[in-house]
Amino acid sequence: MSLPATSAWLPDLLFTGARFESGLALVADAQGTILRLSREPADLAAAQRLSGRALLPGLVNAHSHAFHRVIRARSEFRSSAQRDTFWTWREVMFRAATALDPDDLLRASRMAFLEMALSGITTVGEFHYLHRAPNGRAYAEPNAMALALVRAAREVGLRICLLHSAYARAGWRRTPSPAQRRFIIESPDEYLTAYASLRVALASDTVAGLAWTGFAPHSLRAVPPDYLRAILPAMRAHAAPVHMHLSEQTDENEVCLAEHDTTPIGLLEHEGVLNETFTAVHAIHISTHEAVALARAKAHVCACPTTERNLGDGINPADLFFARGLPVALGTDTNVQTDLLEDARELEYHLRLKYLQREILAPAPAPEVDSDPSALATRLLACATRHGAASLHAPGGSLELGRAADFFTVALDDPALAGADVATLPAAIVFAGGRSCIVDVVIGGRPVVANGRHPQQAAIVGDFHALQHKLWAHL
Ligand SMILES: [Zn+2]
Repeated sequence: MSLPATSAWLPDLLFTGARFESGLALVADAQGTILRLSREPADLAAAQRLSGRALLPGLVNAHSHAFHRVIRARSEFRSSAQRDTFWTWREVMFRAATALDPDDLLRASRMAFLEMALSGITTVGEFHYLHRAPNGRAYAEPNAMALALVRAAREVGLRICLLHSAYARAGWRRTPSPAQRRFIIESPDEYLTAYASLRVALASDTVAGLAWTGFAPHSLRAVPPDYLRAILPAMRAHAAPVHMHLSEQTDENEVCLAEHDTTPIGLLEHEGVLNETFTAVHAIHISTHEAVALARAKAHVCACPTTERNLGDGINPADLFFARGLPVALGTDTNVQTDLLEDARELEYHLRLKYLQREILAPAPAPEVDSDPSALATRLLACATRHGAASLHAPGGSLELGRAADFFTVALDDPALAGADVATLPAAIVFAGGRSCIVDVVIGGRPVVANGRHPQQAAIVGDFHALQHKLWAHL
């Protein structure tokens, strides 16, 4: 299906980055790139009218492991006589990781991506580490699993940044568990060969901005410095996004100190890994000094508050990052709940519980100026949109000339939003909005969700039911 030469949409209200405005049409070219926000009568007359709706830039999910969707609600029980933690949860995740073949991964990730699209997400950063067959051998097509993820995104209609994970070992002085055999690519050369071949396979999708690659050294427990050094020249040459799990757990900091006599961020700074392409995923247990090092490098942070509270990881110190101008992106990570607006509000709410105060991440009011009731919500929306796009090098993230026409609309008469006015609507969406409000999702000018439904929804959900039955019925 080809698009007309230009497409235009006219909602009741359109979010321009700081506020909602009325009487503005969004006009895009045939490639789905924004040409202008327009008040010209000809554009308004030609636009598709989105009555009763407000239009916002598409949400960018900067950190996902799509296959974790199969363990949703299957790790909410006491598994240990001691205490349940991230590490006991990881055993459940490993069990799922050993069971999935490329076709299963396609079905699981199609489900995860469908739910993302229905919740207003238009781009996903998929942090992929399930590379090999369950016996630890490479598939005949070494990127079979990565290509299944890309296919799932294409079938749903999402943009995907495939963050191809390097995973060299189980940890310092640890032998891999059977599940980890699927993750491990022992040789940096083999990793770089697989990465290069994935890049070639996605070349035409990359030109179209639909699918592209990034580097993902999994974590310092999985990727020691000599491996990092071996892949660093390729990371610099390609200038692609580089994502790494960092300081999610206090234990990993302690092991890093024991092995390297420095903190994870100290080590990465020393190795020259930190720069503007780098995103520290989680970065929970870090010092002010480390936040300063990330800011100095112009790096990014990706917080995943829903997952972090589900796993008992800790509270993301977003106040440290905001104070230093570090852009914070958001991720759904384990997909235990897929709602990036929930992640946005939790970024603030968790800090309120920590400090017993309110409005922690809000800008201080200017003297003699009325407070903007949506100043905090606008900052949190930036985390869910433009900061994610910057972290992933994605073409969407804001409704500006030259950016992708990726957006979603909300119904202004949804009970969750009813009563909001122009000034309070951003706060209503961030603090009370969710999937029930979302009407349309458009990616690159093409409709993906209409009237809150995806055309493949019933088939994808039915297929996922069958997959879950296959995976878990015998247990
Ligand atoms: Zn993760």
